[in-house]
Amino acid sequence: MYNIVFIGPPGGGKGTQADMVCKFLNIPHISTGDIFRAMIKEGKSELADMIRGYMSRGELVPDEAVVDVLFDRISKDDCQNGYLLDGFPRSLNQAKVLDAKLASAPLTHVILIDVDENQLIKRLTGRRTAVNSGKIYNIHFNPPKVEGKCDVSGEDLIIRDDDKIETVTNRLKVYKDQTVAAVNYYKEKGVLTVIKGEKNIDEVFADIKEVLKS
Ligand code: ADP
Ligand code: ADP
Repeated sequence: MYNIVFIGPPGGGKGTQADMVCKFLNIPHISTGDIFRAMIKEGKSELADMIRGYMSRGELVPDEAVVDVLFDRISKDDCQNGYLLDGFPRSLNQAKVLDAKLASAPLTHVILIDVDENQLIKRLTGRRTAVNSGKIYNIHFNPPKVEGKCDVSGEDLIIRDDDKIETVTNRLKVYKDQTVAAVNYYKEKGVLTVIKGEKNIDEVFADIKEVLKS
């Protein structure tokens, strides 16, 4: 049974690796960012408008909203044999609330994908996203076969609103101010494994598979 958390700075490669690991292990990939983007796309609601505001400023969505959405998702049938959380927790409080919720089926792996800040800026500003297929590309490091089009669906690739440089800077600050506390919580509990995320995508995947063997 795998109950995995991927934690790390924005742009570190969590989504890219989560996609590969979830196909490999046949478990659901749960990204709170993806869930929020889907809620925003679905249409107008007070909650979606509130979430859009926080995301566009690069701030964390308040814990109550995130926790509700996340717990609702992991209570679904497809999560009963394991799952991978990508982008949750992102604060000390979220990490503690998650532990309390999972008391009877705790996390099996907490993996930090760590990447230097200069590299993160290049990755985030170069990121291109296929909204429907969920595929993630990069104009510098992982380009699509045809410029601007998804290899799988052929749809146009977009630049996420929050991948503009102004917002990226704030997201990196939010990571240091709020998410590093969750990383330290797992480190102190002795459950954190750190993966060097600066290698190429296949090498990082190989390192993660090694960690998942234990
Ligand atoms: P996160 O989910 O942590 O924000 P992503 O998986 O979306 O990160 O990756 C951020 C950007 O970096 C994307 O454009 C992706 O294609 C690219 N990327 C991911 N992993 C690597 C890697 N190992 N080397 C270079 N670029 C990468
Ligand atoms: P990235 O992959 O670049 O780290 P995500 O798609 O995971 O970005 O998250 C995008 C945004 O969604 C965050 O900047 C934040 O506003 C919001 N978000 C996602 N997950 C959480 C969370 N666990 N807590 C609070 N806000 C979140």
